[in-house]
Amino acid sequence: MVEEKAFKSGFVSIIGRPNVGKSTLLNALLGEKIAIISDKPQTTRNRILGIVNKPGAQIVFMDTPGIHKPMHKMNEFMVQTALRTYNEVDIILMLAEATTPPGSGDQFIIQTLSKVKTPVFLLINKIDIINKEALLPLIQQFDKLYHFSEIIPISALKKDLHGLLDAILKRLPQGPQYFPDDQLTDQPERFVVAEIIREKIFELTKEEIPYSSAVVIEEMKEDPEITHVHAVVIVERDSQKGILIGRGGSMLKQIGTHARQDAERLLGTKIFLKLYVKVKKGWREDERMLKDVGILTERD
Ligand code: GDP
Ligand code: MG
Repeated sequence: MVEEKAFKSGFVSIIGRPNVGKSTLLNALLGEKIAIISDKPQTTRNRILGIVNKPGAQIVFMDTPGIHKPMHKMNEFMVQTALRTYNEVDIILMLAEATTPPGSGDQFIIQTLSKVKTPVFLLINKIDIINKEALLPLIQQFDKLYHFSEIIPISALKKDLHGLLDAILKRLPQGPQYFPDDQLTDQPERFVVAEIIREKIFELTKEEIPYSSAVVIEEMKEDPEITHVHAVVIVERDSQKGILIGRGGSMLKQIGTHARQDAERLLGTKIFLKLYVKVKKGWREDERMLKDVGILTERD
């Protein structure tokens, strides 16, 4: 009998200065556009998930907001989102630009990696617009700054990824298939919308409310003109529900409006967002619930 090779899976975080090409890389890896790209830094506000299936393996990529020194509160929040993923993932892909030597922005990121045990690959991106001779000195400069597990020159734009997927597969641990392969396009959008709602709760409410809240997308239906989204915010106590809804529903309305505007911009479609609040005592101890709000969004 032939023994079946164990399934491999894992999470891979894509980090780097704003504008280095993180979202472009994610789209290149997926072969379809799920992350928005722009020449304006900080377009990506949230972690965006992308799933790549290979025979016997599944890789879940996370695009993160660009990491930079926090200047004000909003930035600080975005930087924290990126840093938090370091220890939750199996591999970190750090992007840098081939067009410039490592600068203070790259060095800031490298500093944040100093205590990280997760393997870090350095991807030197945009090699389509440099001279070949410039590459080796650049690799040497980066090599002095950190013990990267791999250094791979790529062009995300031209989809020139030079063995990146194989290098990732080699280091992927054994693990389950997290996502069914037929939900690839739908799942990231749900995740993005849930994350946007969560972000608005963080921005608009105080104290323990954001930490006690989870967002589940119950339904997401795309019509030609508009996407209908039913989302539930789950909290732990009645008092929290009251605060989230606010006087005459004002808080929930504000969260919904802000979230809808961002989601429309991010997904490039009109959205009808219906938002509810439900109390589920102890949801943070409930494994099923954690699955629901973490990655899997299908419900019982
Ligand atoms: P992010 O902020 O790191 O997510 O960067 P984006 O993916 O939004 O890309 C920022 C800009 O760099 C966009 O104008 C991209 O088209 C461009 N870009 C990304 N990758 C490459 C590449 O490999 N080569 C070139 N020439 N441009 C790239
Ligand atoms: Mg981006």
